[in-house]
Amino acid sequence: MNYDQARWTEGEEVYEPHLAEKRSTEVAVADSPLPDDLTRDELDLPDLSEPELARHYTRLSQMSYGVESGPIPLGSCTMKYNPTFTEDVAALPGAGTHPDRSEGTVQGSLELRYRLQEYLAAIGGMESVTLQPPAGAAGEFTGILVAKAYHEHHDEERSEIIVPESAHGTNFASAALAGYDVVELPSAEDGRVDVEALRAAVSEDTAALMLTNPNTLGLFERDIEEIAEVVHEAGGLLYYDGANLNALLGRARPGDMGFDVMHYNVHKTFATPHGGGGPGAGPVGVSEALAPFLPTPQVRATDSGYETFEPERTIGKVHGFAGNWLVLVKTYAYIARLGDAGLADASAKAVLNANYLASRIDYEIPFSPFHHEFVASAGRDAADVARRMLDYGVHPPTTKWPEAVDEALMTEPTEAETRDSLDHLARAFDRAAADSDADLEAAPERTAARRIDQASAARNPRLSWQALDE
Ligand SMILES: *Cc1c(COP(=O)(O)O)cnc(C)c1O
Repeated sequence: MNYDQARWTEGEEVYEPHLAEKRSTEVAVADSPLPDDLTRDELDLPDLSEPELARHYTRLSQMSYGVESGPIPLGSCTMKYNPTFTEDVAALPGAGTHPDRSEGTVQGSLELRYRLQEYLAAIGGMESVTLQPPAGAAGEFTGILVAKAYHEHHDEERSEIIVPESAHGTNFASAALAGYDVVELPSAEDGRVDVEALRAAVSEDTAALMLTNPNTLGLFERDIEEIAEVVHEAGGLLYYDGANLNALLGRARPGDMGFDVMHYNVHKTFATPHGGGGPGAGPVGVSEALAPFLPTPQVRATDSGYETFEPERTIGKVHGFAGNWLVLVKTYAYIARLGDAGLADASAKAVLNANYLASRIDYEIPFSPFHHEFVASAGRDAADVARRMLDYGVHPPTTKWPEAVDEALMTEPTEAETRDSLDHLARAFDRAAADSDADLEAAPERTAARRIDQASAARNPRLSWQALDE
């Protein structure tokens, strides 16, 4: 398979889409019932016909790369393919109900919410689940607020949350945003939690320990039961960062390991759209003791159907209405289609694919045995190796994190890739490794956008054609 990304340049001699020529579009405002200060006489819009517009967006898509172009093996991000049948389900005429409709007229939507709460609770080994948080980080924040409300209800003043150094950056941020002091826990030599260091870190100030298992190196925390005991004995709670459940699905449950509260990223584990700012969803599951503090409303089953209710000591709302509702419809469709056996099969293949890919590449992988992802060391600038991989027609892995591996390439192929696709990915890894420093420094050469100035792109993003025009 060869790769050359399309490079369209709009607005030059041969093709003139008049993007820069704005037309002042007269708007009929005479009969407007709106007050004058809320209306305007013209709109600053490009003057384009429908075919021009369709072609513009098609060209943009050809200059881009998505999971429908090839694999995106971003470790931790779990960029699995989103099956299109879930879009069909979310597009059913009955799916998009108005959130203010009376409950008696939306029993189907309520049933779906109820069943999804139950599915996720069963998958995580939790008692109750809220579907409201709109992203993983929002789920973490919600989960920590629930934990905080629990401690406050028991008249406990606890000021610290312990987070291992290998944790996702959002864990530190969520704990801090909820008003806690963050205590960073160093890892042991083998990349796992150092249980002795944990013993030394816990105290009557410990509100919770936030943990990912398998951790960001793909390693399973074998001592999880002992870890849970240490935290619980100190009166703290165990938070599970379940953004990426791909190694556990249908096989092991955070609730059974001793976790009290967790979030799920449906846009990582349950094949709903991902990236570009969402929308995603980050449901939160809790143990029985924490259930009264969940956001409101929750859905329950009654003898005559389904209804919403307010948990007894709710922390309130973290999103309007039911959260990102149509994303949740897709989540439900995906889980229902796969079923228990399908979910367990997905995790088996995710782990097999990561291990197969690792066995095919010529890179040092310092930590093992890993599960759904592995972290290879690039041996030189990981970002340059990643840019070179773009030239070989694949999306590169996550770079330079976690820091326990020098010049990290954190790689997660997901269960969706075939053996051919994994072999292609492996060739891209190895060809980039064999290329000269000069090749790497010139990369990428075959993409629509060449080497970009990342700092300016982040600081001065031009996200609209007006901004580009200026
Ligand atoms: C992606 C991720 C998050 C955050 O999820 P968002 O939906 O991006 O907010 C948290 N923890 C881990 C381990 C993740 O991979």
